[in-house]
Amino acid sequence: MSERHVVIIGGGLVGSLTACYLAKRGWTVDLYEKRQDTRMQQHGSFGENRSINLAISERGLAALRRLDPALEAQAKALVIPMRGRMIHALDGHQSSQAYDIFGKHINSVSRSELIKLLLDEAESYPGVKLHFGYEFITADFDTGRVVLQDADHGGRNERCEQGRVIVNADLIVGADGAFSRVRQRMMAKVMMNYSQTYIEHGYCELSMEPRNGNFAISPDHLHIWPRGSFMLIALPNLDKSFTCTLFMPWQQFDSIKCDADIVALFRAHFPDALHLIGEKKLCAEFAANPKGSLMYVKCLPLTYKGRVVILGDAAHAMVPFYGQGMNCGFEDVEVLDRTMVEALQNANASSERTADLSNHLLRCALDKYSATRSVDTSAIVDLALENYIEMRAKVVDLRYLTRRFLEGL
Ligand code: FAD
Repeated sequence: MSERHVVIIGGGLVGSLTACYLAKRGWTVDLYEKRQDTRMQQHGSFGENRSINLAISERGLAALRRLDPALEAQAKALVIPMRGRMIHALDGHQSSQAYDIFGKHINSVSRSELIKLLLDEAESYPGVKLHFGYEFITADFDTGRVVLQDADHGGRNERCEQGRVIVNADLIVGADGAFSRVRQRMMAKVMMNYSQTYIEHGYCELSMEPRNGNFAISPDHLHIWPRGSFMLIALPNLDKSFTCTLFMPWQQFDSIKCDADIVALFRAHFPDALHLIGEKKLCAEFAANPKGSLMYVKCLPLTYKGRVVILGDAAHAMVPFYGQGMNCGFEDVEVLDRTMVEALQNANASSERTADLSNHLLRCALDKYSATRSVDTSAIVDLALENYIEMRAKVVDLRYLTRRFLEGL
C-alpha cells in the first residue's frame, strides 16, 4: 500500500502528540500551526492568554507512555508532583488535603516546556514535517483538499497563490483548539449537534516569586484560596516560583478600576497571598496580564466519512477546574490509536501500521471512535464544571472552621 498522508491542523499539545502517534504508525504527517514556532519564544510569558503551567495526571502520562515510555520519563523530568490540595483560610491557616492515601498525585508542568518536548519528539520521526505560520482556511472534506494561508506569503508547497497553499490529504485531523475552524467547516457538512457555553467567570494569571531562593509556599501542593463565588489557586514551577490564577465573575473583574481596588480585594480575601506576591507586582501584573474567558464545548459526531476527525479542545473544550482538558486530549489520541490498531487486527492484518487501513476500515474506526469517545468526553466536560463549585466553595476545612467557631463561643 502506498504511503498515506495526514494533515494535522494545530501544533498545540494535542496536535503535536497526534503527529507522533500517526508517524509511529506509518503515516506521512504534515502539521500546520498558525503561530510561529513557540519553541523560539520567551519561556513562560503571559502573552498567550493560556495558563503558564498546568496539571498533568495519570490520564495524560499514560498516553505518552503508550507512545514511548522514554517520552513519559522525559515529561516526568519536567514536573513537580502535587500530592494534595493546600487550603488557605482567610486568617492564613493552611490545611493539607492529600489526593490519595496511596500517594497517587497530579503534577505541575510548564505548558511551553511540554509543547517543546512534544514538538521535538514529533520532529524526530522522519515522516513528520512541521509547518509554522500556516493558518487553516478551509477544506473539501470529500476530496481531502486543504487550503491554508502562509503568514509569510512564502509558499514552499505544491501550489501557492498569494500565500494560499493547497495540500491533499487522506486524513485531516482538527486539533485546532476550542474555536476550531476545522469543526466549524465540518458543521457545514455534517448534522453536528453542537453547543458552546461561556461561564460567568474569567481568569487572570499572576506570579509569586521564590523567597530567599526557595518556594514561598509548599511546592508539593496545588494551593487554593476558596472564597465562595471566586478563588485564587497556585501551581509550582521548576524555578521555584508559583503561577497563581485568580478566577472570579466578570462583574467583579469589571469593578476593579485601579491599583487600589485590586489591592483592596487581596487585602480583604487573600492577605497571605498579597504578602507573598507583593503589592507592586500584583498591581503591575493585574494591569498588564490578559483576562481570559472560560467556556465549554460539546459536539457530535467528531468525524466525517473517514476523512476528518477532531481531537482535544476542538472536540470538547472544558473549563479548567478538573485539570483535565489537556489530559483528556492526550487520552483522545491514545484511544484513537487503539481504535485504529484494533481495526487492523480485526481485519486480520498483522501490522500495526494504521496507515495501511483501507478507506472503509478507516471510516469504521473513526466512526467507532466518535461514538464511544464522545460519551466519556461529555461526562468530563460536566465534571469539570461541577468541580468549580467544589474548588471555590466546598474544599474549605470544616474541622478547622468548626474549631474556630467553637473557640468564638
Ligand atoms: P490548543 O492548546 O488550543 O492548541 C490548538 C492549536 O491550534 C494552537 O496552537 C493554535 O494556534 C492552533 N490553531 C488554531 N486555529 C488554527 C488554524 N486555523 N490553523 C492552524 N492552526 C490553528 N488542562 C489540563 O489537562 N490540566 C490543567 O491543569 C489545565 N489548566 C488549564 C488552565 C487554564 C487557565 C486553561 C485556559 C486551560 C487549562 N487546561 C488544562 C486545558 C488545556 O489548556 C487545553 O485542554 C489544551 O491546551 C488543549 O490542547 P489542544 O492542542 O487541543 O488545543
